[in-house]
Amino acid sequence: MKDSIAPPSPADVSSSGPIAPPPTGGLNLNPALTHLPVYQPGRPIEEVARESGLPAADIIKLASNENPLGPAPKALVAMRAALAQLHLYPDGNAYYLKQHLAAKLGVAPTNLILGNGSNEVLEYVGHALIAPGTEVVVSQYCFAVYPIVTHLCGGQLVVVPAKGYGHDLEVMDRAISSRTRVVFVANPNNPTGTLAPSDAVLELIDRVPPHVLLVLDEAYIEFLERPQDLLPLIRSGQRPNLLLTRTFSKIYGLAGLRLGYGIGCPPLIAALEKIRQPFNINALAQVAALAALDDVEHLDRTRANNTAGLRFFEAACRELGLEFVPSAANFILVRVREGQRIFLELQRLGVIVRPMNGYQLPEWIRITIGTPQENERCRRGLEQVLRQ
Ligand SMILES: *Cc1c(COP(=O)(O)O)cnc(C)c1O
Repeated sequence: MKDSIAPPSPADVSSSGPIAPPPTGGLNLNPALTHLPVYQPGRPIEEVARESGLPAADIIKLASNENPLGPAPKALVAMRAALAQLHLYPDGNAYYLKQHLAAKLGVAPTNLILGNGSNEVLEYVGHALIAPGTEVVVSQYCFAVYPIVTHLCGGQLVVVPAKGYGHDLEVMDRAISSRTRVVFVANPNNPTGTLAPSDAVLELIDRVPPHVLLVLDEAYIEFLERPQDLLPLIRSGQRPNLLLTRTFSKIYGLAGLRLGYGIGCPPLIAALEKIRQPFNINALAQVAALAALDDVEHLDRTRANNTAGLRFFEAACRELGLEFVPSAANFILVRVREGQRIFLELQRLGVIVRPMNGYQLPEWIRITIGTPQENERCRRGLEQVLRQ
């Protein structure tokens, strides 16, 4: 079922791009660029402040699944201590961070590749495996970066219809052909917050043929109370076609530093290492992540705040008569009927959420769980703009 549900256009894109592409003279640009839209991130506070005239301090951002409690405090201390050495290039191999991360995960450093955000690791996967004539299997409502990477590399996207807003892993398995090179699965998924049943995940891992890399994107795994542990499959070395990806952008509160990683078998990691730029992980990110890994208190506080915030928004949605998708992550997808209008009106009130038209979910918005005060402000805003 090629592009049966969603058109091949990457999700999370604005329909209001430039009217005509600028003339490129005689350049023979990558033909994939002609129709490739630009990724539309959650709107930065400063940008909304410039546009709306509201003071930045009065604006809250619940649009990019960042940690509302801020960076891990231990990371801040470590970064301050590292400032005086910023004239030096970072350690290109991030030795200490890799050692510590490997010890935490119970894997070897050779099982790890670091990226400038886990998005960069997804891009390595594209360079390593996706080319014209190959196929990539994703689910409807998948993370926006998968289609972008696929199209950029000239691959053909195969979109499997979602089941109850979640991934239908069985049908995704059946969508694999001899041309398939990669299957991307985010678990929990963004933007829906859905969690795939663990037996279905294991079954998919067992069934994926050797010529296909299964990328399991675990950006939100730390928010789960009892996460499915797939690391034994990496340690055993029995799954050379499995790559787990994780990030310091979400629960660790370090999105601004750009650091994510992949966990896989050494031969796969060694291949991806050839694609990685030599100094892709900056020096502050390295020391900050190293310290954040041990900031258990910050992680626990974040998890507790998130669980309470999810319950708050579920109750608020019921009260306001709004459908929502039960979420396992740090955001919630809410059906407000006119997503773009509600997004704009909330923004006018200084509350930035994420419109979902780019994900073919125009009736929905995605709200990141904030602090209790931010959540309440968002709820009040919603109540107000729904009445209009
Ligand atoms: C936020 C997110 C990421 C993390 O991206 P970074 O580049 O590490 O900031 C990866 N995958 C999904 C599904 C996400 O939602």
